[in-house]
Amino acid sequence: MNIALIAHDKKKDHLVSFTTAYKDILSKHHLFATGTTGLRIINEAGLDVHRFQSGPYGGDQEIGALVANNKMDIVIFFRDPLTSQPHEPDISALIRLCDVYSVPLATNLGTAEILIKGLERGDLAWRTIVNGRSGETNGADQA
Ligand code: PGA
Repeated sequence: MNIALIAHDKKKDHLVSFTTAYKDILSKHHLFATGTTGLRIINEAGLDVHRFQSGPYGGDQEIGALVANNKMDIVIFFRDPLTSQPHEPDISALIRLCDVYSVPLATNLGTAEILIKGLERGDLAWRTIVNGRSGETNGADQA
């Protein structure tokens, strides 16, 4: 499956810990991230990640475009609700698109853990039907 990983600055440590803890599961899938988040996951968790632009420079919108084209199966977005972001409209747009297309979205660590455990258990296999990749064995596919 295709998984997007995004974290605002004050949440990046959480996402690095999360991706490190669940590296075995995540490494079976195709990972995408906004620029700075992706760099940290590559360097600190040792995962292979396709990096888009940094969030404030359009990265959220790039991921949103994949959601809109049914090419993103899970979005894990550790947003910071206590700090105002210059690209707030992009953040809202990405969250909105996940709801438009019923793409599983976790915006905090608690939900992300449930989502990743569900992914490992096969609970998200319906995504391969929705996105037309039902021939997949481990859920991996390119965007
Ligand atoms: P970043 O972008 O990973 O490049 O920091 C995330 C964001 O702020 O939306």
